[in-house]
Amino acid sequence: MYKFFVQENQIINNKVNIEGKDFNHIKNVLRMKPQTKIFISNKDNEKTYLCEIENIENEKVVCKIIEECENTTELRIKVDLYQGLPKVDKLEYIIQKTVELGINKIFPTNMKNCVAKIKDEAKKNERWQKISEAAAKQSKRDIIPKVEFSVNIDDICNCISKYDIALVAYENEENISIKDVITSNEAQDYKKIAIIVGPEGGFNDKEIEKLKLSGAKIVSLGKRILRTETAPVAMLSMIMYQYDL
Ligand code: SAM
Repeated sequence: MYKFFVQENQIINNKVNIEGKDFNHIKNVLRMKPQTKIFISNKDNEKTYLCEIENIENEKVVCKIIEECENTTELRIKVDLYQGLPKVDKLEYIIQKTVELGINKIFPTNMKNCVAKIKDEAKKNERWQKISEAAAKQSKRDIIPKVEFSVNIDDICNCISKYDIALVAYENEENISIKDVITSNEAQDYKKIAIIVGPEGGFNDKEIEKLKLSGAKIVSLGKRILRTETAPVAMLSMIMYQYDL
């Protein structure tokens, strides 16, 4: 069953009006008919509804809400990714894959060893947000993860306290693995965590020191060196195994 996202103001008295590109998709691409059932998520309150198309007018599709869906497709823990800025096409891949795996927010992060620099960030962010929305629809997420504007290591250090834990994937860490942390007893109560991944050139020592001093946990993802685009996928897969399956 297809999934669509609407704003609060499109939901009036148990009816949902779908307009614009989703209207066109339903009518002219999917050629859906009345009585077809679809899922609709409210972007503003993360609620998801099972709906039925009532009629397809010239400019909009009117759907009737059948019921609110209880079992969410969201992870039971919110995970924010701080991704060392990779070469731009890789970030598109990282957005798509981490949205499928349940990410909550993505923060492109400027780090010392980043090769790429973001030109015209407003335009890039619009494209990245569209990639997130497409992946959220495909994977039937209840939310469209936000791709935030880029931050730096100091920004991360300043907001680490809002997380139950911040996990820094560090390729030179030899003692503590992500498994040691997420399988610990206290970790079972975590509600909100940050995962931090370096760019192709990795972290520089000062960045690791700063993150450590701010209370972040430095962890290994195993014996092999993963690409910057593989690391967040691996981290989220392990978190999903521990908190979701
Ligand atoms: N320049 C580094 C080197 O050659 O050792 C490799 C950096 S790796 C391509 C990019 C990022 O992926 C790292 O900064 C780290 O965040 C993550 N990563 C890759 N392999 C990892 C591992 N085995 N353990 C922890 N993090 C890893």
